[in-house]
Amino acid sequence: MAKAVATTKKSGAKKKPATAAKKTAKKESVPVRYKCRMCGYIYSPLRGEPHNGIPAGTAFEDLPEDYVCPVCGYQGKGKIGKWGFEEWRPTRYLCSICNYIYDEKRGEPHRGIKPGTKFEDLPEDYVCPVCAQDPKILVQFGKVFKQGFQPLNE
Ligand SMILES: [Zn+2]
Ligand SMILES: [Zn+2]
Repeated sequence: MAKAVATTKKSGAKKKPATAAKKTAKKESVPVRYKCRMCGYIYSPLRGEPHNGIPAGTAFEDLPEDYVCPVCGYQGKGKIGKWGFEEWRPTRYLCSICNYIYDEKRGEPHRGIKPGTKFEDLPEDYVCPVCAQDPKILVQFGKVFKQGFQPLNE
């Protein structure tokens, strides 16, 4: 199910000169996170656990066999190994400027974003609707694009 839909139909005012193929090939699929079924701790490959000797960028599959959930271990709930984790992906994203939450279940129907639209599938020029309304934020931060959002861990 490849979504090879680039943003071809932009009716932007600016026409790019023929600097073709200036593709930002940065369609990095979001690395899969894993959630501890016991405590809800989320292992994020992007973050790793540097304090536990796991460098940022370590995929869950590459964790050592004796990996245990740091939270459960800490709370004395016993050792929850990799078996206690399940794949997890966020469905809500928080604007780090204004705390607006994009909820995939809800979408933004009034803006033509259907309920169920995944965050990754939002158009590249998606901006935080709340920040966009706020002149102060616009002055201080400019438009807040997807990069300004962070996943919510719940
Ligand atoms: Zn845990
Ligand atoms: Zn915002």
